Amino acid sequence: MIFDSHAHLTDPQFKKDRAQVIENALTHGVSQILTVCSFFTERETEDFATLLEHHDFIFGSAGIHPHDAKQWDKLWPRLEKTLQMEKIVALGEIGLDYHYNNSPRETQKEVFRQQLKLANTRELPVVIHSREAMEETLDILHSEGINSGVIHCFSGSEDEMKVCLNLGLHISVAGPVTFTKASTLQRIAQTVPLDKLLVETDCPYLAPQPVRGKRNEPAFVRYVVEKIGQLRGMAPEQVAEITTQNARRLFGITGS
Ligand SMILES: [Zn+2]
Repeated sequence: MIFDSHAHLTDPQFKKDRAQVIENALTHGVSQILTVCSFFTERETEDFATLLEHHDFIFGSAGIHPHDAKQWDKLWPRLEKTLQMEKIVALGEIGLDYHYNNSPRETQKEVFRQQLKLANTRELPVVIHSREAMEETLDILHSEGINSGVIHCFSGSEDEMKVCLNLGLHISVAGPVTFTKASTLQRIAQTVPLDKLLVETDCPYLAPQPVRGKRNEPAFVRYVVEKIGQLRGMAPEQVAEITTQNARRLFGITGS
């Protein structure tokens, strides 16, 4: 039983075989999935609503991605509407991306701040995307008084991990931990306090070894769990159990 804490099941790459992908997840020990809505096209919002409605083990998160921050005036009303849906347990992914700079940095920061305020009002944990911008991301989280959330697909340093933990945030480890050159991330997966660790796929992106380069899907989260087990000298079942409890606690999921 594994909780994939970050998937994009509404991505067009799953258009043709979404039902099969969900079936595969269940066959490979995935018990719960957080699916992230980011595009807010009519198509995506509809698919997202259908997924949440038809599968009791799928939960939702919605947020304006830093890439799209420049379109915030169009997306904001759609975000607010999506957040009304039942089974929304988080706000995100939101944050800063200084690698691609698809939106101007000042706009990214402003849209990030506004969404953090919204998360505080709605009392939702946040799902954070931060690429080559960790220092500013953490400054903003701190100044907005955020203390509940997760840094998704963590790619920072050990010092940055400590700052995240001090803020009360969780660290989510994705497929790159299985890559041979990922020594910093592997050290983080080894040392992060167990009660703050989550696992994810970020599918359809970032497929782990041994399926690297393929389309990723929730069933492959087991490779991340196995790798963390190896690194920490723990049984994969134990890693799965603990990270599932953590995700359920963070997202306020009770019951089965
Ligand atoms: Zn994502």
